[in-house]
Amino acid sequence: MTEHNIPCCEICGARKKTTQTGGFSACATCRVIHSNIKNHPETIKKLWPELQDEPILPKRDPDQIQEEMELPEVLDGKRYMTVDREDNKWYLSVSEVDGKPVEVFASTAFDRDHELQSRISNLTTITRLISLMLRHIFLNEPLTLQKCLKQIKRSSRQKDDLPDMLFGVLSRYSNTSTFTEKKDPTS
Ligand SMILES: [Zn+2]
Repeated sequence: MTEHNIPCCEICGARKKTTQTGGFSACATCRVIHSNIKNHPETIKKLWPELQDEPILPKRDPDQIQEEMELPEVLDGKRYMTVDREDNKWYLSVSEVDGKPVEVFASTAFDRDHELQSRISNLTTITRLISLMLRHIFLNEPLTLQKCLKQIKRSSRQKDDLPDMLFGVLSRYSNTSTFTEKKDPTS
């Protein structure tokens, strides 16, 4: 048998004796790698950074997550006037970076009605979270629970409005949170 008759391993390309493994004609070395990736992915992920300088997957290192994305001070934008089903006039503003939406704002007449604080805080929560998602989608800003919590907290206008309550509940899932109150969840 000449070297040219020996098939290539479909995974590493080496001319070695191969055997079918999980859909590949694989050499003995690649069969072991294949089986370990399939059966022990956590071990691979744990060991990889110890042995390699490159990330095993696109980088999601929490140490490298920037706290705030730097947006230009003045953003281009478009303002849309809409009317809701109760005939209230709304202004919906979309800020843009390179033509992509990165922030939304909404305002309407009840902004100036001080008895409607809770409606305003709910509205603020919606637009702040949508803005966070838009920056994640269009600017690749990392989306983290901490950032969601910060925006929800900032949307709150008074104690025990909806954003404040959501912040309290979701903070329980955040290990670095400043929320320390330990309430019985059933109470
Ligand atoms: Zn191989």
